Amino acid sequence: MKSANVTLSGLGTTVFEVMSALAREHQSVNLGQGFPDDKGPEAVRRAAAEYLLNGHNQYPPMMGLPELRQAVAEHARRFQGLEVDWQTEVLVTSGATEALGDCLFGLIEPGDEVVLIEPLYDSYLPIVRRAGGIPRLVRLQPPEWRLPYEELAAAFNDRTKLILFNTPMNPCSKVFDRDELGFIADLCLKHDVYAVCDEVYEHIVFDHCRHLSIMNVPGMRDRTARIGSAGKSFSVTGWKVGYVTAAPDMLKAIAKTHQFMTFTTPPNLQWGAATGLRLGDDYFDSLSSEMQRKRDRLAAGLVQIGFDVLPSQGTYFVTTDFRPLGFNGTDDDFCRHITSEAGVTAVPVSAFYDDPAVAPRHFIRFCFCKNDSTLDAAIERLSKYFRRQGNV
Ligand code: PMP
Ligand code: GLN
Repeated sequence: MKSANVTLSGLGTTVFEVMSALAREHQSVNLGQGFPDDKGPEAVRRAAAEYLLNGHNQYPPMMGLPELRQAVAEHARRFQGLEVDWQTEVLVTSGATEALGDCLFGLIEPGDEVVLIEPLYDSYLPIVRRAGGIPRLVRLQPPEWRLPYEELAAAFNDRTKLILFNTPMNPCSKVFDRDELGFIADLCLKHDVYAVCDEVYEHIVFDHCRHLSIMNVPGMRDRTARIGSAGKSFSVTGWKVGYVTAAPDMLKAIAKTHQFMTFTTPPNLQWGAATGLRLGDDYFDSLSSEMQRKRDRLAAGLVQIGFDVLPSQGTYFVTTDFRPLGFNGTDDDFCRHITSEAGVTAVPVSAFYDDPAVAPRHFIRFCFCKNDSTLDAAIERLSKYFRRQGNV
């Protein structure tokens, strides 16, 4: 038998699936894979349910329902001051995951170099490689996760086709500031490079941080594809409704992939997402403030136990260093250990690196978009376990 495509078939199963399966096996409190306990706004779910019962449940337009594309454009104006033409500059996809695939397959030519920032979300590298791109990885260093300007500049050259990055950033919860985005933009302009920016956590930012899209940086309007996800903004991760905004020529190339990847996305869920994007500012404000409160609740408990908790400026994740607890092993060992022994699951941060051999092995990521009772149960279990151990 001939072998399947090795770039993908040679990979293991994604860390989120692996850790969630382990959590089910041990009936642990799952703070690994990122999905909220909250059901999402009722108006959004009702709109989708209503459409399912009474709407047109046949193929919607390939680019997405006009109502959702209009809502994406309005939302871009409201939150980023961007003027977007909904007819030529917005594409609806089956989740941000498809949007990322569409952008990478649509824009990369085999042999093109692609700059990526590590740690990175786990779907990026396999798709870049399958599209024939040559990854150039630039690593952020904890605990500040500042962008290393010199290394970033050195990663760009005339073969660079695009930079793919994520802000607010999973897993390290960093929000790129104006200075960093400006630096990236200068490099894109100097080397004639596209930016694909994964902004799925655009509405989950904390303290004084603000989400800024690189599409807004002078010169970047027509060379950026910006990606959002209804799953994240409306706490419905199972819906898999995403959207890409890009200038017409860029979007045309991206949509050519979409037409043969999924072609369309369930229309009732698109309708629900349109309702969500049109919710009042109070909804979006309370999403951030609720998540911030949950971050603080979980972080305070983890500090009490003895974890070193790193800052979290956005997303619904917090990274912690477990070394103060005296555990002798890798982040992977630690996550498996606390799942089976303490009944709490997290994910190892080294899973967000290309080569675990160069990744830090002492960080784990906890997800805090959970009910207070879930967070409290996790803290109680961990406290009890580590007290019993007198640390590990
Ligand atoms: N990008 C990042 C950074 C994510 O954390 C996720 C998580 N799901 C995605 C993309 C994928 O989003 P979706 O579920 O909309 O495909
Ligand atoms: N984005 C989610 C996380 O980082 C998981 C998505 C997935 O399971 N593929 O936890």
